[in-house]
Amino acid sequence: MKTIIVANWKMDPPTLREAKKLLELTKKSAEKSGSLVIVAPPAIFLRDLRQLYRGKRLAYAVQNAHFESCGAYTGEISLQQAHDAGASYVLVGHAERRAMGETNDDTRKKVGAALTIKMTPILCVGEESRSTSGEHFAVVKEQLQAGFADVPVGKVARVIVAYEPIWAIGADVAMSPRDMHEMSIFIRKTIVDLHGEPGHQVIILYGGSIDDKNAGEMLRFGDVRGLLVGRASVDAVHMSTLLQAIGKIS
Ligand code: PEP
Repeated sequence: MKTIIVANWKMDPPTLREAKKLLELTKKSAEKSGSLVIVAPPAIFLRDLRQLYRGKRLAYAVQNAHFESCGAYTGEISLQQAHDAGASYVLVGHAERRAMGETNDDTRKKVGAALTIKMTPILCVGEESRSTSGEHFAVVKEQLQAGFADVPVGKVARVIVAYEPIWAIGADVAMSPRDMHEMSIFIRKTIVDLHGEPGHQVIILYGGSIDDKNAGEMLRFGDVRGLLVGRASVDAVHMSTLLQAIGKIS
């Protein structure tokens, strides 16, 4: 099974020219590695990038989209428009979107709407901080219960979960693979409790300060099928060494 690397470019790079160059280099690295790289560029670059490259090693995501297909939502783009522009995946509930007001109820609607038009939702969950009392499990459980609430049992396995503890996003160090392993077990159990057997098939990713040095360890010991990468994904050299490191173990 292919390792999945989601490259969340956030609001970078500044121009389409640079985005094309970054895609070109990412594509080369992706082709050399055994991984599937899902590039999530700023939506305005999506259609151009998609025209530049379509292939097995690279797929496209939007970083956010509205659950309604059209209407009076100034400044938004719909899942349908994103799909039409070439995105087959969508990030739902990224921590930076949640910080801007996205609610668990929004994630429920987005996951449901994405599945309806055959896009794959990547549901992002993760707590803001951790304490010894284990409250982070309750936060993650609530996010999963909401995100999966409208998913028919037959489509459960099509949802990807990206666990991204907020304290590890844009930080100096990632979470330990051991802690991720524990969280993966918890995530799977929560989905199985909700929807039964198909919950075992849900793909789980880790995101938060992944780089070329810690990516391999996380994939080996974190009980995850892939990684969601922010900063390192907009640095072509860094991304290339990261994919090489992963290539050796996948
Ligand atoms: C992210 O934006 O989801 C992320 C994981 O960022 P970084 O890799 O920079 O921590």
